[in-house]
Amino acid sequence: MRNLLPLISALLLTASCTKKENLGQNDGTIVTTIGMIADVTRQIAGEEQEVINLIGEGVDPHNHKPLKSEVDCIQRAGLVLYNGLLLEGKMSSVLANRRDQGQPIFAVAEGLEGVELLGDHSHPDPHLWMDITIWSQVAETISHHLSTYSPEHKERHTTRLSEYQKKLTDLHAYARRAFQSIPENQRVLVTAHDAFSYLGRAYGIEVRGIQGISTESEAGTKDINDLVAYLVEKQIPAIFVESSVPEKSVEAVIEGAAQKGHKVKNGGTLFSDAMGSSGSYRGTYIGMMDHNITTIVKALGGDVPETGFQGKL
Ligand SMILES: [Zn+2]
Repeated sequence: MRNLLPLISALLLTASCTKKENLGQNDGTIVTTIGMIADVTRQIAGEEQEVINLIGEGVDPHNHKPLKSEVDCIQRAGLVLYNGLLLEGKMSSVLANRRDQGQPIFAVAEGLEGVELLGDHSHPDPHLWMDITIWSQVAETISHHLSTYSPEHKERHTTRLSEYQKKLTDLHAYARRAFQSIPENQRVLVTAHDAFSYLGRAYGIEVRGIQGISTESEAGTKDINDLVAYLVEKQIPAIFVESSVPEKSVEAVIEGAAQKGHKVKNGGTLFSDAMGSSGSYRGTYIGMMDHNITTIVKALGGDVPETGFQGKL
């Protein structure tokens, strides 16, 4: 089923992108690459403007090869907002190419004032949405690009942005309280790949990924053995699966710990690089983060309401 998802989303996408074929080169749509950018863009753009998102539910952006229909979508867009910092793997070069030709294409996670990037110089960590305060800054960047693109809606963008940022401030406060309720020696988050480092820095939890920052390389036996030894030593009760990354390395770690007499449970599935199904609460940025925070804190022995930040889980 997992393998069918990219195909299904590709089909849906073809449908949504070809219907305006007759409108010529620029069809005025706003195109985004990942759900987290699409949702924030829709929150600010409102009903007046159409937003088409390319990389959907359950799809890993690092490994995603752009489809012909997606390249078409990008070429016809009036405005393209993408993450940048090489998150979009092979799509990055298509975007850079079009931008060099003068199309309005912006990397919303690049060049943020006062944000210290994690990762290393040659490969900065692109998963900035995991720190809610940073994503709030990105929302501001998105609002700026929307208003530059359609100045007639500027006032509405500004109003919607400030309403949305208020919600993000509340969510951030919820996250801080929630993570602080985890017993201190159990504040360790182990997931399939390194998507959660910004969350770790923002909310005071140590983060370990089984794979590196990108999902392109598979975890080796040594990585898994090292991690097992660490879990056993610290008596960490749970590790987590991600919706866009295969489960097998996580299972190998759970098995390895069991062989050493330490029971680690699967703490649940987290949304790392893709959100939940569109139209659902988890298919929004706030819902996705609420799900992640609440799932992690519950499994690591902290104190959170069963239904999360605003009773919607
Ligand atoms: Zn990632």
